[in-house]
Amino acid sequence: MIKFLDLQKINLSHQQEIENALLETFRSGWYLLGEKIKTFEKELAQYCNVPHAIGVANGLDALRLILRAYIELGVMKEGDEVVVPANTYIASLLAITDNKLVPVLVEPDINTYNIDVTKIEEKITSKTRAILLVHLYGSIVFSEDLTRLADKYDLKIVEDNAQAIGAVWNNKKSGSLGDAAGFSFYPGKNLGALGDAGAVTCKEQDVADCIRTLANYGSQKKYVNKYQGYNSRLDEIQAAVLSVKFKYLDSENQRRQKIAQRYLTEIVNPKVILPYHKIEEKSHVYHLFVVRTEHRDDLQRYLEENSIQTLIHYPIPPHQQEAYSDLKILQLPITEKIHQEVLSLPMSPVMTDDEVSKVIQTINSF
Ligand SMILES: *Cc1c(COP(=O)(O)O)cnc(C)c1O
Repeated sequence: MIKFLDLQKINLSHQQEIENALLETFRSGWYLLGEKIKTFEKELAQYCNVPHAIGVANGLDALRLILRAYIELGVMKEGDEVVVPANTYIASLLAITDNKLVPVLVEPDINTYNIDVTKIEEKITSKTRAILLVHLYGSIVFSEDLTRLADKYDLKIVEDNAQAIGAVWNNKKSGSLGDAAGFSFYPGKNLGALGDAGAVTCKEQDVADCIRTLANYGSQKKYVNKYQGYNSRLDEIQAAVLSVKFKYLDSENQRRQKIAQRYLTEIVNPKVILPYHKIEEKSHVYHLFVVRTEHRDDLQRYLEENSIQTLIHYPIPPHQQEAYSDLKILQLPITEKIHQEVLSLPMSPVMTDDEVSKVIQTINSF
């Protein structure tokens, strides 16, 4: 059986170091807001080359807190609009609507699966305050056009960087391209904790201070509350584990890119459309390797029969979810097509060459 993602194997490949980190944290007697989180935040800020990184409880909170901070700082207010790709994981939208902001859905580019930058300007109104970019599947979406658009209409650029940590565009890391970025360290992400964890990176001091305060009950000074905040902290145990795994992120991403290169060159089934081949290779860290085919369900079944596990990211687009029944009227044909045709192949840094070969051969014989 070739697993879609063998988390146990990934984490056991760092077993000794992770167990040492867990034990050390356990024995330290200090479990929240201590040295481990400070260290990890410093590592993340340095890695992304940004002035501020703040550990939070998960990726959704990271995005939620960024937008909430902009509200507290007077950059936006209830009812303002945030441009977001229509094909994304629902968390991107939840972060917007939870803050009583209005998501404005933009169709993706069918080739890259990322937001179609040429379709953003027509959606901008006097209420638009931000563009929430999603580097979907691990592939950076960014361009000078985006920066120009943000300047022209005075918009914040927020990155949903849950899937693309380590990706590089123009010598800049994802998470350093916009004004602020949300990271997820959900166990299955490229940098995965042993449970929920997340972080924000940002460029402005006041935004960083506000997020740090909001995430700790809205309190800077114990028992003095400036905001009606949240409890959204990254605990010491997760931070310690993340610092261990962080050292291996680049080499693990490189292994993902190697596997992707093989998939891209050796899968030659005309029924299967391969993901867009990046000009700048490092701008994709292949959190997911997603192919597209009109025969998606048949292909998935065929691979299953041949002991190859695949997943669908994602089967239902946000605007067709019961949770967003108010968006059901939207016509988003590209988004809907993508959701009907995509299939994510096995992809992880611990896949063996033989496993990659078997996936390739099986798809080619479909
Ligand atoms: C995983 C993910 C999130 C949410 O992260 P959590 O840590 O699970 O809250 C947000 N956006 C995208 C695109 C994701 O893939």
